[in-house]
Amino acid sequence: MSQTTSAESRTPRTYEIRTHGCQMNVHDSERLSGLLEDAGYVRAAQSEPDVVVFNTCAVRENADNKLYGSLGNLRPVKDAHPGMQIAVGGCLAQKDKETITDRAPWVDVVFGTHNIGSLPVLLERARIAEEAQVEIAEALERFPSTLPTRRDSPYAAWVSISVGCNNTCTFCIVPALRGKEVDRRPGEILGEIRALVDQGVQEITLLGQNVNAYGTGFTDFATTDRFGDRAAFAKLLRACGDIDGLERVRFTSPHPKDFTDDVIAAMAETPNVMPQLHMPLQSGSDRVLKAMRRSYRSERYLGILERVRAAMPEAAITTDIIVGFPGETEADFADTLVVAEQARFASSYTFQYSIRPGTPAATMPDQVPAEVVAERYQRLDEVVKATAYEENLRLEDRRVEVMFADGEGRKDAATHRMSGRARDNRLVHVAVGEDPALRPRPGDIAHTVITHAAPYHLNADAGVTDLRRTRGGDAWQAAQDQPTATGTVGLGMPGVGAPPPVPMTPGCRA
Ligand code: SF4
Repeated sequence: MSQTTSAESRTPRTYEIRTHGCQMNVHDSERLSGLLEDAGYVRAAQSEPDVVVFNTCAVRENADNKLYGSLGNLRPVKDAHPGMQIAVGGCLAQKDKETITDRAPWVDVVFGTHNIGSLPVLLERARIAEEAQVEIAEALERFPSTLPTRRDSPYAAWVSISVGCNNTCTFCIVPALRGKEVDRRPGEILGEIRALVDQGVQEITLLGQNVNAYGTGFTDFATTDRFGDRAAFAKLLRACGDIDGLERVRFTSPHPKDFTDDVIAAMAETPNVMPQLHMPLQSGSDRVLKAMRRSYRSERYLGILERVRAAMPEAAITTDIIVGFPGETEADFADTLVVAEQARFASSYTFQYSIRPGTPAATMPDQVPAEVVAERYQRLDEVVKATAYEENLRLEDRRVEVMFADGEGRKDAATHRMSGRARDNRLVHVAVGEDPALRPRPGDIAHTVITHAAPYHLNADAGVTDLRRTRGGDAWQAAQDQPTATGTVGLGMPGVGAPPPVPMTPGCRA
């Protein structure tokens, strides 16, 4: 039994969460923070928290080696800090289960992707029992959005619309670890968005592994019956358009297989849905797409882009591409280069394929040698960079609307600029004066003119016009003025803390 001193009982235990992987994990970490704060923990300000939580990713290369390396580094810290606890959750925990406590017996808690709500109880149980607690649920116990959440940004938020995925892409471990797709009911989602907007949030990103399959996984939790509505995602986008005060709506990631024209129409006809689409291509070779078990072909993919651009000529389209999938030949790769050029991507997240244990592709024959993968990656990078630059050049001298954000421009202080995102999600560094009366706050919105294009950002050195002090900017200001008072949690509702960059990277990746 551990002894609790009276001093300990008066001092709240502190926590730190280390998050790896996609937005899904980042958003889960907001929930873990909310759960811990609800249970009386406070976020650690210094380097030695009482509880360290690893929210892991199984998708990244060498994810397990990196985790065990970090756990090893933490062991002497824990030895020198009586009462410290270490918890491991997320996809790697779901995959490795007890292996984690076998390999790192100083870990106190292991929990999975389906039972993140158990973390505080497991920590307490481990403390009282003085032994590791491993609890991995094999299916979702309840939709995680009903858990308390400590949001990181006062003006931008992610909102989960679904968890899990019904696809079986052969390079991806997500379906095995996150389970079948479960969709949240529209009323709950819209209720959460309205509550966020009431608190100052003005940009939301709808989050799911495959957002445009939304509606096919509606589940009655009482009977476990599933029933579908294929038009549900387009309806959801249109319903977002009716929410007063919601300035910008984005979503990530859609699957080309499920992309329907009603979604394009909803995007084009709903003014607060932004002209931006992140849609993973993965390969331009139909042969490789088939081996990846991605059931669209490059012609369909390009056709969707054509229709999106016909409806929204200003749309910026970004993608994910994997180079060197098993069996990829030079001719397959040449197809990817051609499609990448034709698609005119504003930006591409390109990945070098590497074996992810547990995926079908891991045991496929004809793994491409690493040096070939690296060389192809380099060639693709040159193509996508050149295309992104050409696309950005078209914006020079154009007027754009920017929503300013914290943490988007590393050199802002030195360059006297502030950074934010245009409506199409392009990163814009804007010259601003020092006069606080004329200076935007993160969350504020203004117009500016692009004076210089680079491959991955735009500069606007002519200052701002039409500066709008927004409720999001007010919420950011309130968080600065009273950081602790606003860092609260609620049931599935936002709190306020230090804002991260506006979300932009995809949720469903290789
Ligand atoms: S890559 Fe995306 S769509 Fe494919 S299985 Fe993984 S999560 Fe699902």
